[in-house]
Amino acid sequence: MANNNETVYVIGHKSPDTDSICSAIAYARFLNELGENAIAARSGEINPETEFVLNKFNIQVPELLTDASGKRLVLVDHNEPAQGPDNIDKAEILEVIDHHKIAFKYSEPIYFHTEPVGCTATIIAWEYVKYDIEIATEIAGIMLSAILSDTVVFKSPTTTEDDVETAEMLAEIAEIEDIEAFGIEVKKAKSSLKGMTPEAIIYSDFKDFEFSGKKVGIGQIEVVDMTEVAGRKTELINKLKEITKNKSYILTVLIATDIMNEGSDVIASGETGYIEKAFNKAFKDNSVYLEGVMSRKKDVVPPLEKAFKP
Ligand code: MN
Ligand code: MN
Repeated sequence: MANNNETVYVIGHKSPDTDSICSAIAYARFLNELGENAIAARSGEINPETEFVLNKFNIQVPELLTDASGKRLVLVDHNEPAQGPDNIDKAEILEVIDHHKIAFKYSEPIYFHTEPVGCTATIIAWEYVKYDIEIATEIAGIMLSAILSDTVVFKSPTTTEDDVETAEMLAEIAEIEDIEAFGIEVKKAKSSLKGMTPEAIIYSDFKDFEFSGKKVGIGQIEVVDMTEVAGRKTELINKLKEITKNKSYILTVLIATDIMNEGSDVIASGETGYIEKAFNKAFKDNSVYLEGVMSRKKDVVPPLEKAFKP
């Protein structure tokens, strides 16, 4: 990236998760070490899990950036324009660091770095190593947290050897002795639905997709106690119905992932036949339980996108 004193905003996706926030912070710090003038930003409110992580490592919440017009951006943890800040088409994109499927077009050559690993922070940790830049204790701590969050403590099928090895390296720097116990602590910070409105639950980690030109919204929650989801199901379905209708989705989905038992209850509204087709399993009462399904990116999006193909 060409050095230039104008501010660069490093930013993750809307409905930011721990990876989007912590990777933005870690990569902004990295760019500054290289002499850039970078600031970490966020595209929305942080969730309780991220709040727990930032408090634990004593790091400030990045600044909110909702309008990207005229800004210079580095995108982390996403590359689909619909998932980025508003007016992203009027921003200058300098770099992309990501681990999602590629849905990006740009009129100029840029530094576009994706790897099929479990977390953006894994890629960023390698950049530190590659450029021989020392990783500060607190930065190691938040990158480790991002990896544990995205990989659901290494249980998600998106987890690679690289994620595990990188997490071990970071844990040593951050002085975290029991990685798995720390991972469960991180996940638990977000797992309770108590006190959350159905809308807050659905939008806590929600992404827009376009499958064969059709608008599909997919949210995900990760829970330790699935009876909490069962108790809120009717409310959640009603809210999904409302969102589908009012925001012109063809399908809205909430994946309620059971961290302990490694499966997901998929609740949906709209053209749910696409989900039945994708997973070859019938919907009952607006939902279907899918054994072994943990990852939106790896387990849900690819078969669902395929089901939309004519
Ligand atoms: Mn993310
Ligand atoms: Mn991620």
